[in-house]
Amino acid sequence: MSTTLLGIVDDRALGTNMRLIVTRPDRLADAKAAADRVIKAIDDAASRFRDDSELSRVNREPGRQFHVSALLARALAAGLRGARLTGGAVDPTVGSAVRLAGYDRDFADIPADTSPIQLAVSHVPGWRAILFDERARTVSVPRGVEIDLGATAKALASDLGAAAALEAVGSGGALVSLGGDIALAGEAPLDGWAVQTSEDSNASLDDDEETISIESGGIATSSTTVRRWTRGGTVLHHIIDPSTGLPAAGPWRTASVIAATCVDANIASTAAIVMGESAVAWLAKHRLPARLVDHDGIVHRVSGWPEPSTRLR
Ligand code: ADP
Ligand code: MG
Repeated sequence: MSTTLLGIVDDRALGTNMRLIVTRPDRLADAKAAADRVIKAIDDAASRFRDDSELSRVNREPGRQFHVSALLARALAAGLRGARLTGGAVDPTVGSAVRLAGYDRDFADIPADTSPIQLAVSHVPGWRAILFDERARTVSVPRGVEIDLGATAKALASDLGAAAALEAVGSGGALVSLGGDIALAGEAPLDGWAVQTSEDSNASLDDDEETISIESGGIATSSTTVRRWTRGGTVLHHIIDPSTGLPAAGPWRTASVIAATCVDANIASTAAIVMGESAVAWLAKHRLPARLVDHDGIVHRVSGWPEPSTRLR
């Protein structure tokens, strides 16, 4: 069987693990430099963990209208697209709810356990509160609203990183994974891009894990099992149900989705965790193949997610 020789590099970016794969190993260094530039630019624009990011400046001054960079505009547009498509299950105004639940710094720096926190139920301000003009690239947030692009900015970084890597290489194909949010650009290797679905993107490549092969688009995984922490013995995680402002409590602990872009895959994977049972019909309506893992570890493959027998060797 003929296979494509791949160039692979692993690194860290956006507080998570990064992997770049290109089908032109001789051009790996150029591809990496190009992907790194885009990913750093997204971090500068849209990180909520960095006080000096453009997004943090917008959040710090409610009521003021900002003219934003093309990249932050794109990230805001992606976040709001998610809200529209999911009827608000994905909502970029979860910022203060995420922070109040204790996720207020890079995940690696969250303390093992600290005092209990009182979480009050109250729905998030709602994405319609964000005044955003995509063409004019202006945004302002009302008082009390904190924008969090955590769900879409990382996926957008994968999409733009893969496109930039491909452009730098000039031919063939590129894959960028940021914490399991995977984007593909250009031509796939002869036997497709083999993607292992694990709940933890740090999991090692293992023959016992399910592997699927895809040619284009993106895959994203949202999970309540990896970025979770405890406060006063209560287990909390980082995906907020906008209707309660609390960590989502539905039946799925992990959702992986395949879509045309990593951004759309991630919109759907985050939404699946929030929507719970009703995600199955929503995913089918949008023809998005998904792999949902419930709290007992049982895998539900919906709207055409490949059976494990399609595993590549
Ligand atoms: P993962 O980090 O497992 O890939 P997601 O892609 O779903 O998970 O992103 C979760 C991040 O998105 C959270 O850390 C938080 O910053 C933000 N977030 C949490 N809940 C929501 C929500 N309902 N809508 C939009 N963003 C959210
Ligand atoms: Mg994600």
